[in-house]
Amino acid sequence: MTEVVTTVDQLRATLAGPRSAGATIGLVPTMGALHEGHLSLVRQARADCGLVVASVFVNPLQFDAEDDYASYPRDLAGDAARLRAHGADQVFAPDVAAFTPPEQVTVVRVGGLADRLEGASRPGHFDGVATVVVKLCNATQPHRAYFGEKDYQQLVLVRTVVADLDLPVDVVAGSTVRDDDGLALSSRNARLSPEQREAARAIPAALSEVAADWDGDADSARAALRRRLGAASGVDLDYAEVCDPETLAPLEGVVAGPAQALVAAVVGDTRLIDNARLEQPSPPRRGGDGA
Ligand code: AMP
Repeated sequence: MTEVVTTVDQLRATLAGPRSAGATIGLVPTMGALHEGHLSLVRQARADCGLVVASVFVNPLQFDAEDDYASYPRDLAGDAARLRAHGADQVFAPDVAAFTPPEQVTVVRVGGLADRLEGASRPGHFDGVATVVVKLCNATQPHRAYFGEKDYQQLVLVRTVVADLDLPVDVVAGSTVRDDDGLALSSRNARLSPEQREAARAIPAALSEVAADWDGDADSARAALRRRLGAASGVDLDYAEVCDPETLAPLEGVVAGPAQALVAAVVGDTRLIDNARLEQPSPPRRGGDGA
């Protein structure tokens, strides 16, 4: 069961037997151009589930620029081999004309959340993401679906859609995989020149510094992030925000719980996003019990 299937009917037929035999089905949606970040999600799903479906679909609905969509790297044979090698049982690569036909008029729109941060810079992007995630979940009917924290707003958006539409799926988050220099893995990193790559390191560096200095003051964390990235040469900051990790509402003043810092910046022609959890280190446990 490791061939690539391209239609919803084929996928459902393939999954019917294992599903009725009680297999836990995990779905890992990707757009291909795979790197270790994607593959870590596949391995996580493999460890949790009896049957792992990985989808490879360059979703036209989530691209704002036609050029970007057309030039997105595609290598289905290579991607399918990598997915299998890391534990996917089934690769689902729907045909674009059949899966998102021009006559499709239904859109899943997540109010508010879809218009902030990434959504403000990329109008319509999250409608496209939400619509296709719902379609992939309906096609696969997985018990669990895996999404990377690298795209933190997307993760919150998917959780919101699943809760609001009562989709019977557990959304599981995977940690961000980074290169040795701290840069979060992304298919877009390949577009960076060596000098741009050097400049881009300022993004994870600023996030780590702000996370290390976190004392609960959202205003000063936000200001520090903006100051550091505003001063970084070769980095054109789009936004730097400190938000509630569950809702992504911007936080103000001193807060009691954890926060999420989110950043988008353009380096050369490449838009990069990254984020970090701001969490107070837990107080050291008292040593021994005095006995
Ligand atoms: P994409 O192919 O870019 O749509 O990404 C597919 C999935 O891989 C999404 O859930 C992403 O959040 C996740 N992902 C992308 N980059 C990373 C990374 N560096 N670490 C962990 N997950 C990632």
